[in-house]
Amino acid sequence: MGVRVPPALLMAKKAKGSHTVGLKCTVCGRFNYAIKKQRSNRKKMELRKYCKWCRKHTLHKEAKL
Ligand SMILES: [Zn+2]
Repeated sequence: MGVRVPPALLMAKKAKGSHTVGLKCTVCGRFNYAIKKQRSNRKKMELRKYCKWCRKHTLHKEAKL
């Protein structure tokens, strides 16, 4: 008789203290990635990632989903 926690609730619990932000391609402006970020980390993320739309590595900047 274990307590069954709905998956949605479980995910909300896990997300405590961190939030999800999107990484947006600076070339085409499309969201390609979603990353978990600590709330304490206020720095804007900038990463070189592969963009499937541009078909090459481009600079991706953090943006709200
Ligand atoms: Zn792109």
